[in-house]
Amino acid sequence: MAASRLTVETPRKVPMEQVVMKHRRTTLERAEKFISNLYFTDVNLYGRLYPKQCEASMITHWAAPLNVYTSYEEAVKQKFAPVEVGQSFGPTWGTHWFHVTVNVPLEWIGEEVRLRWNSSSEALVWVNGQPRQGLCSEYERFDFPLTDNLQKEKCSFSVYIEMACNGMFGAGDNGMIAPPKLDKTFTLNFCQVAVFNRKAYNLLREVELLHDIAKHMPEGSERGYQALYTVNDMINNCDVNDTSSYERCHQISAKFFKQRNGDSQHTTYAMGHAHIDTAWLWPYSETIRKCARSWSCTIRLMEKYPNFTFTCSQAQQYEWIKERYPSLYEDIKKFVKEGRFIPVGGTWVEMDGLIPSGEAFIRQFLYGQKFFEKEFGMTCKEFWLPDTFGYSGQLPQIMRHCGITRFLTQKMSWNLVNKFPHHTFYWEGIDNSKVLAHFPSGDTYEMKGNVQEVLRTAKNFQDKGRSDKTAFLFGFGDGGNGPSEDMIERLDRIKDVDGLPRVKMSTPDEFFTAIENEDSSKLCRWAGELYLEMHNGTYTTHAKVKKMNRKCELLLQHVEFLSCVAMATKSSVYPSVELNRLWKLLLLNQFHDVLPGSSIGMVYEDAHKYYNSIMESGSNLLAQASTNIFLKPCDESDKSLVIWNTVSWDRSEVISVQGQDESESPNKRRKTDTNVNVPQQIDKKGNKLYYVKVPSYGMSDLVNSCIRDINPWSVNAENMDDGVIMIKNDQIEACIDKYGRITKLLVNGSNKNMISSDYPANQFILYDDIPLYWDAWDVMDYHLETRKPVMKLLKPAEIEDNGPLRVTVMVSLEISKESQIEQTIILDVASPYIKFDTKVKWFENRKFLKVEFPTSMHTREATYDIQFGHIRRPNHQNTSWDTARYEVCGHKWTDISEYGFGVAVLNDSKYGHSAVDNILRLSLLRSSKAPDRNADMGEHEFTYGLMPHTGTFQEAGVIKQGYCLNSPLNTQYEHYDSNIVAPSSYFTLDSSQVVLDTVKKSEDNDDTIILRLYESFGGSCCCTISTVLSFSSVQICNGLEQTTEDDTFDIKTTGDKITFNIKPFQILTLKIKLN
Ligand SMILES: [Zn+2]
Repeated sequence: MAASRLTVETPRKVPMEQVVMKHRRTTLERAEKFISNLYFTDVNLYGRLYPKQCEASMITHWAAPLNVYTSYEEAVKQKFAPVEVGQSFGPTWGTHWFHVTVNVPLEWIGEEVRLRWNSSSEALVWVNGQPRQGLCSEYERFDFPLTDNLQKEKCSFSVYIEMACNGMFGAGDNGMIAPPKLDKTFTLNFCQVAVFNRKAYNLLREVELLHDIAKHMPEGSERGYQALYTVNDMINNCDVNDTSSYERCHQISAKFFKQRNGDSQHTTYAMGHAHIDTAWLWPYSETIRKCARSWSCTIRLMEKYPNFTFTCSQAQQYEWIKERYPSLYEDIKKFVKEGRFIPVGGTWVEMDGLIPSGEAFIRQFLYGQKFFEKEFGMTCKEFWLPDTFGYSGQLPQIMRHCGITRFLTQKMSWNLVNKFPHHTFYWEGIDNSKVLAHFPSGDTYEMKGNVQEVLRTAKNFQDKGRSDKTAFLFGFGDGGNGPSEDMIERLDRIKDVDGLPRVKMSTPDEFFTAIENEDSSKLCRWAGELYLEMHNGTYTTHAKVKKMNRKCELLLQHVEFLSCVAMATKSSVYPSVELNRLWKLLLLNQFHDVLPGSSIGMVYEDAHKYYNSIMESGSNLLAQASTNIFLKPCDESDKSLVIWNTVSWDRSEVISVQGQDESESPNKRRKTDTNVNVPQQIDKKGNKLYYVKVPSYGMSDLVNSCIRDINPWSVNAENMDDGVIMIKNDQIEACIDKYGRITKLLVNGSNKNMISSDYPANQFILYDDIPLYWDAWDVMDYHLETRKPVMKLLKPAEIEDNGPLRVTVMVSLEISKESQIEQTIILDVASPYIKFDTKVKWFENRKFLKVEFPTSMHTREATYDIQFGHIRRPNHQNTSWDTARYEVCGHKWTDISEYGFGVAVLNDSKYGHSAVDNILRLSLLRSSKAPDRNADMGEHEFTYGLMPHTGTFQEAGVIKQGYCLNSPLNTQYEHYDSNIVAPSSYFTLDSSQVVLDTVKKSEDNDDTIILRLYESFGGSCCCTISTVLSFSSVQICNGLEQTTEDDTFDIKTTGDKITFNIKPFQILTLKIKLN
């Protein structure tokens, strides 16, 4: 038997074969859990961010009085009492000051140490009397850095914290846009000092980015898998408790991040941003503090990151900070100078894009750009309106007129029906002015700087092949404190990584210049308005805000005209300072959540306070200017009724005079007053009516303006069968049924009934108005399916006044038990339209009141008045783009015409319209309940007019009547100077095509006035202006009142005349130096 041999194997020297697993989902989730702030924080990397913590040594507190602003200086003088973590503070909108004292343990020397504060609210940290940094619980912005390297000599810290009892989105009661809950309290959850583990933080950012690349790269992407197994390898090599292992992990990730892009990669231009709504779910006063919190955060980041840039709009917000936080403002100025804190937009606020008048738009830019120029020595090159609910087709020209050639918005991505087809394109206005427009293709202006957003930005971009650049706006808005350290750290790590778009920290100028230089010839064009297919209830919500906006816009223009006359005739000094103040209040209220009606009730208390201030001061200025013009040494008895016309056409109209009666003041009558003091009609209310003629931009007195010979034109009303009333003047004839509806409407000389034979006009309609979510904002298309005519009579139509100057017919209707309409239907002698003075008691819930005018017109489009011009929109529903425009914005009038005839609807304060087939509808009142549960509840007064015409609306004078309805003749008793010739026109235009819209003093020169004109018909023409004001020179200038060298524009002056050619819808600003 052979002996067996026992062999002993020696152990192998190579390590055991490593197990390699291959499962995408588990690997991905493993990485996610490794940095999760929810799961496994006791063993994961996130749990190592703050390795040492202790409580603050002492917290004392003082509650500031509610609704009163308390400055730091006042607050720190108060008596503070100790409080503890876990206590709650309120109520909503309250302010609480805390004094926090910290003694950091000596064993933390050399560490980075932070104060961590969570009061479930927004807060501002003050150090040595300076606002240092905002905090915001909602975005977990808890950390305030105390030191990067704790020194033995400085282990104690003391800060004040100003806590605001509101969250980022105010204090909605169960839902973001719900009205605020006023008794909310906010709990101080923690106030700690902690060591910040910078090494763990850096590694965490790398793991996060690799995880996101693995997760969000398209399925099957090689780079995605490379990222996945890189991060897996890092976790394998990481001992979270041993920071020395972190270096090994960095080396693994560095291999991935060092692999660069090729030349063809898309570039996204990153810019920090904080969209701070100037008022919305919080009042204006809170916005000031939101700005301080956000911008102080931004300044701290600028100190730390030398490449970081931040774009910031709205001159008003800068002015607030300048006034209230001067040290912060000085820091901002320093970084503006460095080109890193970048003023953008050029406007006073980010205003509504549809409702402000043309002149108000210009003033937004004028006061905005002037502010930026004065404060920072620069003007903005980009118009910046990321979050507004539609954009007027006149904006491109207005921008260019104000020195701006570029436009950025983002809101169009909210379209409900049609996807807007471009991200970078030329936007062409109604006059063909073009501006370069860009919509950030990531579909938000609040990016967080993560991989998914960067990939989405490049993927969504719709102008690929034509351009390879997009803008990327990152930072939390509305009190989230703007960009964060995390965002900047992320973007810095992915600025050039193979597979991802390039990320370049940039400026708007760098971005737009790159497009202009490289891509501009290949871009598409979009002509006309940018209609947002959403939020179209905002043309109507908060009707009184819209009405006051319209009234105040016009009042300030009227004051400016009269003040110019007073200045030019050496009667008084132009009230520049006060007019500036009033304009700025008005412009502030045009902010894109105030004017649209989408703010909480508190905001409207402030808004109406400002409107009332404008009305009160504006009316005084107007009266004062008029008085100053006439107040010359003269006989005290020479007092007469002076009538001012502030539109650019001569007009003959009925005026109604209340109060002081000329006939009762025999001493105050001019010698020539033989029969003028006898009113031509006294109406039922006792007002004296006169029919007067006053020249354009001019005045007259009653003696010279009164038209005595009225017989051939007289107006009268007649009761017919079935309660029908016929009213008639020399222009038109109409039948009114007992409901106040117009059943027949003729233009004199034609027998065509302009009203539909099937449905009467002036029919009130009530719709259900329940949107999907955005209550104050949205009226949905399906509301049109709920049409209910208002047919319950309270008082049938009845003749009240009957000529010879005016007829009135009264009618009242019941909308519901709570709501009623009372209407006075008016036809004046020689007037081309019927006027409807309307009072509504309105207490509804999610109902929408409109008035409709079915016409007999045959047409495929309707025309709408907009800023300095008009636009046409289809009245049919052929395409999804047509259908989506079921509710649109227009200003003073809309018109529907066929060849030879037309019908216009005028209004004095409305902006919502619709036209379907031959029916024009004017939107009157909504009743949304969020965010203001009382929006529009109460009594309303408004006026609209129905104007049938022959020929085109241009020839028929619809534009003129729109102006006249909105700017009634202004009457005032003055000590009349017989040296002043009446009637007198200060400006006369020989073409009805051109409108002189604005007469104001130049901002910079006391002997110079500005005239702003525009072509209103949509065709070229030659126009001559005559003026009685003596002038020495005329120059063309832009909206900023800077003279421009436009060699295509020819202007001739001879004697008192200025002659020029003007193009369709062109805006022309002239600078006239007075003698
Ligand atoms: Zn906004």
